[in-house]
Amino acid sequence: MDIIVHSIESMAAVDGPGVRYGIFLAGCLLRCVYCHNPDTWDRSNGQRYTPQQLADKVKRYRPYFKGKGGVTISGGEPLLQAAQLTELVRLLQAEDINVALDTAGSVINEDVKQLLALRPLLLTDIKMPDEERYKKYIGADLKTNQEFLSLARQYGCDVWVRYVVVKGINDSRRDIEKICRMANTYPNIKKIQLLPYHNMGREKYKKLGICYTLSEDNVPSTRQMAELESIVNDNFHP
Ligand code: SF4
Repeated sequence: MDIIVHSIESMAAVDGPGVRYGIFLAGCLLRCVYCHNPDTWDRSNGQRYTPQQLADKVKRYRPYFKGKGGVTISGGEPLLQAAQLTELVRLLQAEDINVALDTAGSVINEDVKQLLALRPLLLTDIKMPDEERYKKYIGADLKTNQEFLSLARQYGCDVWVRYVVVKGINDSRRDIEKICRMANTYPNIKKIQLLPYHNMGREKYKKLGICYTLSEDNVPSTRQMAELESIVNDNFHP
């Protein structure tokens, strides 16, 4: 089965250890208010590749990985294509290439379980600290995200949690402490990375004719980010 790809970046500014090859998949059912890639939402914009074609592309970059780097598969939501990805991850792991999945943890099904059984590194957002805000600003259930983290624990996948800080929405001390408490209950969560919201995706919304509701006022300052980082350092115990 083909994998539907939005874009590929050979030396990507994506997360994960070392130099990363970034594969961005098309399709996402969430509608995060701060999403800077709304152009990945629609699957029909994607280009089709077989898992073997993608694995062959990645293999050419192996000298840059130097044992530590590898591939980060992002999106969109990669879990929407879990069955095809399982094949790709198998091909890459057979070549000893490290695979990270950048996912919102928004899909749970048998295909996702098979993918997790391969134990990729998971870069997973916890987007909002409670159900109410998750529904309002993400358009989905926090419960699914929590179930996904439990599955990741069950399959022994290491997780790096990412949390986009949006000023005035999810940036209080209590919010960050709550995320830390949640993370402390999962021994497989190895890191919490706070990322400041930025509005660089704004122009894409305009082009796509989608309403953009955030503004410059929602961008946290460097100082606020440093304060929130210190809350993580004090409260998260991996
Ligand atoms: S999960 Fe990612 S791609 Fe989907 S809407 Fe949220 S930020 Fe955008």
